Amino acid sequence: MRRILIVGGGYAGFYAAWKLEKKLRRNEAEVTLVDPRPYLTYQPFLPEVVAGAVEARHAAVSLRRHLRRTRIVAGTVTAVDHAHRVVTVRPADGDAFELGYDLIVVTAGAVTRRLPVPGVAEEAIGLKHVEEAVAIRDRLLTSFDRAAVLPAGPQRRKLLTVTFVGGGFSGVEGFGELLSLATALLKRYPELRRDELEFHLVEASGRILPEVTDRPGRWVVRELERRGAHVHLDTLVTSATGGHVTLSTSEEFDSELIVWTAGNGANPVIGKHTDLPVDERGLVVVRPDLRVEGVPDAWAAGDDAAVPDLASPVPGARTVPNAQHAYRQGKLLARNIIATLRGREPKPYVHHSLGSIATLGLGRGIFQYRRLVLTGRPAWLMHRGYHVLAVPSWERKVRVLAVWLTAALFGRDILSLASVQHPRDAFVSGGARPERTEELPAPFKV
Ligand SMILES: Cc1cc2nc3c(=O)[nH]c(=O)nc-3n(C[C@H](O)[C@H](O)[C@H](O)COP(=O)(O)OP(=O)(O)OC[C@H]3O[C@@H](n4cnc5c(N)ncnc54)[C@H](O)[C@@H]3O)c2cc1C
Repeated sequence: MRRILIVGGGYAGFYAAWKLEKKLRRNEAEVTLVDPRPYLTYQPFLPEVVAGAVEARHAAVSLRRHLRRTRIVAGTVTAVDHAHRVVTVRPADGDAFELGYDLIVVTAGAVTRRLPVPGVAEEAIGLKHVEEAVAIRDRLLTSFDRAAVLPAGPQRRKLLTVTFVGGGFSGVEGFGELLSLATALLKRYPELRRDELEFHLVEASGRILPEVTDRPGRWVVRELERRGAHVHLDTLVTSATGGHVTLSTSEEFDSELIVWTAGNGANPVIGKHTDLPVDERGLVVVRPDLRVEGVPDAWAAGDDAAVPDLASPVPGARTVPNAQHAYRQGKLLARNIIATLRGREPKPYVHHSLGSIATLGLGRGIFQYRRLVLTGRPAWLMHRGYHVLAVPSWERKVRVLAVWLTAALFGRDILSLASVQHPRDAFVSGGARPERTEELPAPFKV
């Protein structure tokens, strides 16, 4: 039996394992998947988790539930020594250990790119993981509660000021959804005024949403501004110390919530701790058929791989890091592994983009396919339709749909459970304690 080891159970890794399970013959190969998280994060749903339109758990797909024939190892791969066909795994508890393999699949994705701006490491939250989306939502809801009992002034204004840094897809979608939630919340808070709410989107380049062309990109800026947002183009955040945001335009404001979505960086483990070939960005260099260039028994796909884009007219182009590619590459990778195990030739990866689609808040969206652009509700409905069909497994599709239908009947759920971060507070500080020893039951008397 060949031992196949998959590093990372996100889009590309999950689909590779799923397909391998379905296609491998009994005793043909055994599959092991290593990931510190027990689930695939369906990242396109995170902006809707921020807005409370998708339940946090439903944006995660359990690996153990859906990968029944794959051995799941909970841990982080800290090094790949492909020459000796061994990886080092660091579990949450206990000592690091080594796992041997015959064939490796590297699908560890990317990480949020953090720039050395003062205060960002201490103050900002990313938007790549479920817990970040939940925290962003809870922070906003809690800020509304705190602001509502304060007199108007700088402290209250800070609580009602939100800053997103980075105008790519995840930033704009998260920003639009949170703005939509905050605007809707005002109805429940008569103490607060609309003009006290400040939403800033800061983007270093001259435009947002690089995946759509210039005109639709400008339309999105106008649409956000029409809804009261401040969009700062050609602007950098130069400091965020103590929540005081300073921009390169010399503008300054206090912001309770700062969300950092300024791009992807290469996964440092893959870029620096493997003996596989990586390019100048730290991505694994692969051939069009997803085999690692010049190395036997190694494959890679998704956001951590530099995959030649055979559908692009630009020579030397690489596929962009998105779910559209990652999931298709994961599936092809599994088919190609099986082909090589059975002595057949693997196929090259070719995918023509299906266009770009983004939510900008409840009932608002944008879609572009070549010269066709749809905006507003039709684009938003397409966004929901596409993603509910794309989230892996029927079980998850039905759960997400049920929450959307419930919200259509009863409105948004505006509950903050920020207190789950401190579950012992009530027990430790609020529990009734007997004052005198005599009141204690017998076993506790000293
Ligand atoms: C907010 C947001 C919205 C998005 N919306 C869209 C969209 O609408 N459409 C679209 O096409 N794309 C979208 N994307 C991009 C898309 O989600 C990613 O391109 C896609 O998830 C990449 O898949 P992947 O398998 O390469 O990596 P991931 O899905 O990130 O998975 C990587 C996995 O590897 C694991 N891992 C990392 N390091 C290690 C290690 N050292 N050892 C073991 N495991 C490790 C991680 O825990 C993770 O499970 C969005 C992204 C974000 C953040």
